[in-house]
Amino acid sequence: MSSEYSLSHLSDPDLLSNLSALVARERAATAELLAHIAEVDARRLFRDAAYPSMFAYCVGELHLSEDAAYKHITTARASRRFPMLYDAIADGRLHLSAVLLLAVHLTSESIAELVAAAAHKSKLEIERLLAERFPLPDVLASIRVLPSGVTESGPLAVLPALAELAPEPVGPGELAPGRVEADELAPGRVAAWQPAWPAPRASASSQTHEQNRATRAKVWPLSTRRFALRVTIGEVTHGKLRYAQELLSHQSISGDVAAVLDRALTVLIAQLEKRKFAETSRPRPGAAPAEGHGRYVPAEVRRAVWRRDGGQCTFVGESGRRCEARELLEFDHVDEVARGGRATVDRVRLRCRAHNQLEAERTFGAEFMNDKREEARRRADERRVPAPGAGVTREPPSMIVCAP
Ligand SMILES: [Zn+2]
Repeated sequence: MSSEYSLSHLSDPDLLSNLSALVARERAATAELLAHIAEVDARRLFRDAAYPSMFAYCVGELHLSEDAAYKHITTARASRRFPMLYDAIADGRLHLSAVLLLAVHLTSESIAELVAAAAHKSKLEIERLLAERFPLPDVLASIRVLPSGVTESGPLAVLPALAELAPEPVGPGELAPGRVEADELAPGRVAAWQPAWPAPRASASSQTHEQNRATRAKVWPLSTRRFALRVTIGEVTHGKLRYAQELLSHQSISGDVAAVLDRALTVLIAQLEKRKFAETSRPRPGAAPAEGHGRYVPAEVRRAVWRRDGGQCTFVGESGRRCEARELLEFDHVDEVARGGRATVDRVRLRCRAHNQLEAERTFGAEFMNDKREEARRRADERRVPAPGAGVTREPPSMIVCAP
């Protein structure tokens, strides 16, 4: 232990005053840190460093923990919108958890009053304050009921009416696991991390948090190659699982939920690959190399590009780091289509959305691309249908890929 950490020589008053000074210094540093995160985020510099998102950059490059990255990015974005938060953090009126709680409620009209009301309050006190001001409806008992664990043997219970096999409504506690409201913060896998939830208490808000905690899927490693998965499923899904087990009852895996899940995912992945990446079990033998026209990328080209690039973004930063994104991948024309780019295997590559956009900005200029995106967004709003990104090849959506 170096001498600076040995404090036994300090008097009690000196020790306390040093501690206060350190806390003040840390708050000032935190506000400054947030300002830097917000600026890097706004300039999207994580892309140049070969990361697909600010979250990935904070975890991979800055080595923040997942929950610290989430907390800092969320509070940095809020502070960039409302710069008075920087001051409130720097002078100790608000801690980061307070800003995190307030963030979704802040408007330019309410911010001064809300910051004043939350000043120097604990997280629990702020939760109460928010529950009073922004009350949530009681959580219905019917969606509070958690199905008991799937039993692995025994006769099938009565299946829920299979006619009701419709997608279930997504409640507040059932946001896609591992994502933060479809933001780019989370790595996009089943949640491998969880924000620290507040302690249980008897308000509507706490019920929501508890509901979240109860329903959020979580994966955690048990040993080198084994993982535990905890997931809450609805009655319909439970019925499907039991029905699948019944259909498999003549096979040895029937009672093994993990094996049934693996079988189901294998089928799902094959189906998604077929649909979204034009995978087929039998490519046309001896077919001449295909070439698309305009943005169209023929199935054979997609298949070859997907295999060659290993289902991973091909962007390489100046440091030589290759982007590790395997989700939201797009088929990117090496030569922009608008400038005569051809859709042949050697002129198409996989890029994550962030790096596809970065490339387009480098080619056409960031301002031009922003204008184009704005224009596309406006048109989409008018038509109420998704608009293709102008100048950007947008291809299949998210896809989870197993390691080869
Ligand atoms: Zn990428």
